[in-house]
Amino acid sequence: MAVSLQERFELLGCIQCGRCTAGCPVALRTYLNIRKVVYEGLTGTGPKDAKGRPEAWNCTTCSNCTDRCPKGVKPMELLIGLRSAAIEKGKALPTVRDALESTFKHGNPWGRGREKRMEWADELDVPVVAEGETAPLLFYVGCTPAYDPRAQEVAKTLVKILAAAGVDYSTLGTAEACCGNEIKRLGEEGLFELLVEGNRELFADRGAELIVTSSPHCMNTFKNEYGELGSDVVHYSQFLAKLLKDGSLKLTTAVDKTVTYHDPCFLGKHNDIYDEPREVIERVPGVTFIELDRSRERALCCEGGGGRMWVEAVEERGERVAEIRVRDAVALGADYLVTACPFCLMTLEDAVKTSGNEGKIEIIDLAELVVMAL
Ligand code: SF4
Ligand code: SF4
Repeated sequence: MAVSLQERFELLGCIQCGRCTAGCPVALRTYLNIRKVVYEGLTGTGPKDAKGRPEAWNCTTCSNCTDRCPKGVKPMELLIGLRSAAIEKGKALPTVRDALESTFKHGNPWGRGREKRMEWADELDVPVVAEGETAPLLFYVGCTPAYDPRAQEVAKTLVKILAAAGVDYSTLGTAEACCGNEIKRLGEEGLFELLVEGNRELFADRGAELIVTSSPHCMNTFKNEYGELGSDVVHYSQFLAKLLKDGSLKLTTAVDKTVTYHDPCFLGKHNDIYDEPREVIERVPGVTFIELDRSRERALCCEGGGGRMWVEAVEERGERVAEIRVRDAVALGADYLVTACPFCLMTLEDAVKTSGNEGKIEIIDLAELVVMAL
C-alpha cells in the first residue's frame, strides 16, 4: 500500500503557524509557500510530486523551515520527497535530468569528462594519490572547483596555501567523483547511494584519515550522510583556522580592506560552523571586519544550494536573494563580500552584475583573502 505524504513526512504535528514560510528566503521572491505545501500534504489535497508542484524545485534546501518548525515537522524533506516522486515517474526537469545523467556517467553534474577533472591543476604541482598508495590527508576538490572556471581559482588558491603551510596532502586526481550532496537534494536517492558506495571504497582504499573539502556541500554529506566513514571530515575554513592557530600558516602582508562575510547555508545553518571562517578573517592583518545584519543563524541564503545551480526558479518575482545580499553588503561599505562556498561565490558574483553593483564591491572566497596576506 502506498504511504501517504502525511505519514512519510510526519506532517500530522503541523499547527499551520506559518513560521516555516516566514523564514523561507525563496518565499521572498517566488510563490513557494511551504506552509501551504505542508497543509496540502497533510490533508492529501495537493499534488503528489514536483511535476504538479513545480515550485518545489525553487527550494534551496537552506533548512530554515525545518530549523524553525516548533512541532518537529520537516518541511524541507517533504519538498525533496516531491522531487523524488517526480524523478521516479520520469518527470524531472530537463536540466535536472542532464545533471543526474552526467553524474552517473562522468562523476560530475556539469556534463564534463572525468579525464578533465584535474585540468584546473595543469600549471601547478598538485600531488595525486594513485591506486595502491595511501594518503592520510586528502584534499577533496569537489566537482564545481574542479570544473567551473571561477571556482577553479579557489582550488588553485587553496593548494598554494597548503604548500605555504607545508601541509603534506594529496588529491584523488581523476579518480575523484561527485560527493552527491546536491544529487540527494534533487531527490535522486538511488544515484546518491551509488556515489556513497564508490566514495567510501575510494577513501578507504587510499587510507584517508582526514578529508579537507573545498565546498561546505561536500563536507556536509561526507560528515552527516555517509554513515561511519572512518575518516574525519572538515571544511577548509576549519583547517585554515587550525593552521593559523598552531602557527603553521603565517599571514604577514596587510590587506587594508573592509570585509564582510556571507555564511554559506551548508557551513552555517546545516553544520553550525560560524566561528572558524570569522577567526580566519580576523587573523588577516589590516582587515576591518564588519558583520551583515542578517548573519550567522539569521543569514539569508544565496539561492545556489539544493541543486538550484541546475534549476531556474519558476514564477520569479522581485529581487533575487543574492541581489539582496549584495545590496546589504554594499550598504555596509564593504570592499569585499567574502564567502567560503563555490555556489555562493558564483551566485553572489552574478548578483553583483545583475544588481548594477559592478565596481562597488568584490565577491571573493575566504581562501582568496588569505592568499593576499601570505
Ligand atoms: S513551522 Fe511547522 S508547524 Fe508551523 S506551519 Fe510550518 S510545518 Fe507547520
Ligand atoms: S529549505 Fe529553505 S528554501 Fe526550502 S522551503 Fe525551507 S526555508 Fe524555503
